[in-house]
Amino acid sequence: MSPASQWIIATIAFIGGCALWTLLEWLIHNFLGHHGKGKNPFGQEHVRHHATTHYFAPTWKKALAAIPVIGGVLALTLLVAPTYVAIPLVAGLTIMYISYEVIHRRSHTHGPTGPYSRWVRRHHYYHHFRNPRMNHGVTTPTWDMIFGTYVKVTEPIRVPEKHAMSWLVDPETGEVRAEYADDYVIARRGDRKKQADTDTATDEPPAALAGAA
Ligand SMILES: [Zn+2]
Ligand SMILES: [Zn+2]
Repeated sequence: MSPASQWIIATIAFIGGCALWTLLEWLIHNFLGHHGKGKNPFGQEHVRHHATTHYFAPTWKKALAAIPVIGGVLALTLLVAPTYVAIPLVAGLTIMYISYEVIHRRSHTHGPTGPYSRWVRRHHYYHHFRNPRMNHGVTTPTWDMIFGTYVKVTEPIRVPEKHAMSWLVDPETGEVRAEYADDYVIARRGDRKKQADTDTATDEPPAALAGAA
């Protein structure tokens, strides 16, 4: 094969490696993180991240977890493909793996800076605070769409007060910063009861309407 053809194949393998990570991201989160119910090391760390959203596994644990993932993909790929395919594929996978770690952590520690980072946060916080069975992908909705776990977030997300990210809350008022007010509300203890009381009150027909019926 000519060197030019090898370069084209290597580029495709690199892109394939990036895509492969996004699939692994969904599979690991769904099966080890949620179906595992904390019975494996990843699941234990993941349960802790859900219970305390400010918590992240230490970097050494993340690095340790990356070894079997990257090493496993490298070993399997070398079994069936030449080096000029295996190396760029694993390089793409590794770069996307690291990108995922950075994107996920920053989604908790920093506010959005554009449409993509706004989407990442709302997609991921739906998973955290509304329904942990949905929206398992962090960097892309593709696999959620394919596996039927995608929810398009259209309403403001209720973030429990104790989990509220520091970038979200105005320290002076304790409320959501004005720039994020369309996307989030802070849910406080007692809010649901107050809401239920309001709903009950409004459910009762006004006397005038009841009389006219
Ligand atoms: Zn998270
Ligand atoms: Zn989760």
